[in-house]
Amino acid sequence: MPNSNSRGRIYDLHIHLDTHSPVRFSPSDYYVTLLELGIATAGFVMHDATPACEPLEGIAAYFGIERTIPRTGARHMKADYSLAHATCGHDLADLVGNMVRERIDILAHPFAPGVLCSDWDYLLDMMSEHTIAIEYNASYGGPAWLYEQAESQGVQITFGSDAHSPDQLSIDIPPFITPLSELPFVARRV
Ligand SMILES: [Zn+2]
Ligand SMILES: [Zn+2]
Repeated sequence: MPNSNSRGRIYDLHIHLDTHSPVRFSPSDYYVTLLELGIATAGFVMHDATPACEPLEGIAAYFGIERTIPRTGARHMKADYSLAHATCGHDLADLVGNMVRERIDILAHPFAPGVLCSDWDYLLDMMSEHTIAIEYNASYGGPAWLYEQAESQGVQITFGSDAHSPDQLSIDIPPFITPLSELPFVARRV
C-alpha cells in the first residue's frame, strides 16, 4: 500500500535532472524508483534550462523549467510547464507580476529559505486569477493553513519532491493535492 491517496494524486512535478553539482541525471535513471513508488506521472525539470525529452514506458513524463524569478536573463524556452523559483530576499507578493509575465504554471517551494510573503491573501488572489498553482514541496513543507487558504481561494496545489537524485523521490503526498487531470497545462498538452 504505497499511499492512501487516489492514483490521480500520485504524481511528482519537481524532479531534477540537473543538481547543484556537475552530476546530471536522465529520466531513465529515475525509472526503477518511480515504478517502485507507483509514481505514474513524473515531471522532470532543470534550473533555467529545458530538459531533453525522453519517453519512459508506462510513465507519463512531462518536462519543465524551474525559472528563477526575478528573471536572470534566460530567454523564453519551450517546455510543458514552468515552475518559479524565487530568489532569496524577495517578497512573493512583489513577484506575482513577474510570474504572470513569465507565464509561470506553478510557484515552487513557497517556503524555501530566504523567501518571504508579506501578503498571502493578495498573492493567492492573483494566483487564482491567473491560474498559477502553488506547490507543496516535500523538502520544505509548509503550514496546513496556507494550503487550506489556497484551496478556499481556488488555487491549485501541486506536489513536488524536489528530488535531486533518485533516492530523494518521495510519495509523502498530503491529501489536499489537486488531481493531475485538473491542472491546466496537463489539459493543454493532451
Ligand atoms: Zn528551486
Ligand atoms: Zn527545484
